Amino acid sequence: MQRLGKNHGAYAGEGIDLQTTLDAQHAAAQRHGWQTEWLEAAPAIRLLALCRPLPRPRRRVYLSAGIHGDEPAGPLTLRQLLEEDAWPAGCALWMCPCLNPTGFPINRRESALGTDLNRDYRHRETPEVRAHIAWLERQPRFDLTLCLHEDWEAHGFYVYELNPEQRPSLAERIVSAVARVCPIDPSPLIDGREASGGIIRPSLDPESRPQWPEAFHLIQHKTTLSYTLEAPSDFPLPVRVAALAAAVRAALEAL
Ligand SMILES: [Zn+2]
Repeated sequence: MQRLGKNHGAYAGEGIDLQTTLDAQHAAAQRHGWQTEWLEAAPAIRLLALCRPLPRPRRRVYLSAGIHGDEPAGPLTLRQLLEEDAWPAGCALWMCPCLNPTGFPINRRESALGTDLNRDYRHRETPEVRAHIAWLERQPRFDLTLCLHEDWEAHGFYVYELNPEQRPSLAERIVSAVARVCPIDPSPLIDGREASGGIIRPSLDPESRPQWPEAFHLIQHKTTLSYTLEAPSDFPLPVRVAALAAAVRAALEAL
């Protein structure tokens, strides 16, 4: 499978119709018994938050997507998984399927006001991130969190692991599941960090970082195991959706 060669200096592929995608996510969640909530971040900015609690869950898992408005595969993947409704038994789920609703209509990474929301979890200057964190604070801790992303420069799928307590890693299982549907980025250096077989295990202390992505907030406050799943957005959109869906399924099955 070859790269499309479309992205030069930015993502240049197709976007999504935001309202269609949100409506489909919301409808599928309601159809399958999820609790649905619209978080009023600002007068014209609403975030969809979903949860499917169980009385005595074996696992609690949180998923998010769409914090970067030029990464359509994440929200499309969560739409597909909501519609399929084939989650592992005993797994209670929480989901924010589109965290940057003003970025998608302009197919841009940042919000409409130009902020990279995925750098705002330390200082919390945007209404989107403040509303999201307020919602997270009302939820229990999670056994696992998965953040779905895309990278327009990547040569294949890769994954970031945050695992400060050295729990059993799910990264190899995630990568081998994705490899069946999408190339894995073989680069020894991805996004400026050492990588091996598509896996990045950054050794970093969030406290030392001036700006926090969502995953840092999660690892500091909500979980001890977090994966950021990165699909390569210079490949066809259906391949990227298949990659992210395979990654989510593999992580849930391996947990
Ligand atoms: Zn991203």
